[in-house]
Amino acid sequence: MKWKSVLRPRLRLVTIAGALVIPAVVWAQAQTAQVIAVRAGRVFDPRSGTNVTNQVVLITGERISDAGPADRVQIPAGARVIDLSQATVLPGLIDGHLHLTDAAGGLQHQMMVALYSATQSLNAGFTTQVVMGSHGGGYADVELRKAIESRLVRGPRLLVAGPVLDITTPGNDTFPLDFKPFRPNIVANGPEAMRAAVRELAHYGVDHIKMTTTGPFVFKPNGDMVNQALPSLEELKAAVDEAHRRGLFVATHSYGGDASKGRSKCGRMNRAT
Ligand SMILES: [Zn+2]
Repeated sequence: MKWKSVLRPRLRLVTIAGALVIPAVVWAQAQTAQVIAVRAGRVFDPRSGTNVTNQVVLITGERISDAGPADRVQIPAGARVIDLSQATVLPGLIDGHLHLTDAAGGLQHQMMVALYSATQSLNAGFTTQVVMGSHGGGYADVELRKAIESRLVRGPRLLVAGPVLDITTPGNDTFPLDFKPFRPNIVANGPEAMRAAVRELAHYGVDHIKMTTTGPFVFKPNGDMVNQALPSLEELKAAVDEAHRRGLFVATHSYGGDASKGRSKCGRMNRAT
């Protein structure tokens, strides 16, 4: 039993030394490799609405750690420098409402449409996109977000809703009756079914829920809109409650009237037509 008393302190010493060395290496790498300095000829400042000239933007990890005139912002030793001194630099744009799919063709087609849409958006300067329902694309947006996050493909940061949550009603289906390649939306009727649908969406990894709360609408000659609220207040409350329990927000396809009144009674809901 004597060896234990000799060995244990040594093991402890080695463990402590290892614990100190590894973070030091990681810290050193973070200090050098992860800092990117962008020399910008012009930077668009959205607060003032003007272009400011001869700027440096420092990016540490995934965050902008400093930005300002080149004579003030010091570029750390070892930083990777991107020279855009002959160019204009724009902050990443955020699109708060879009659909990456086009509701035509099958899932495989939708996946390619989603990838094309996201890639084009990134090339146009959008670095974050809030996808308000995958029109006819099932979970194409969720899969694309995963592919981007795992760096399989390049694209903007995506917040996704997956298929839109609907009740049964005429006009809610994106496809005519004779062409329905797969279930484009999740159709749920009744509070418990709403809860189950939200759980299914959460299970497949959505960031938020998109619901249709206004059905087809027409305008009277005087310009007033006539529309129909789709889910009952009980259904709406159930969906919102279930989503909030999972930390998800709910956005609605809503054109005012009773649908909007119901939405306002359910607390945290975004209007998103
Ligand atoms: Zn929309």
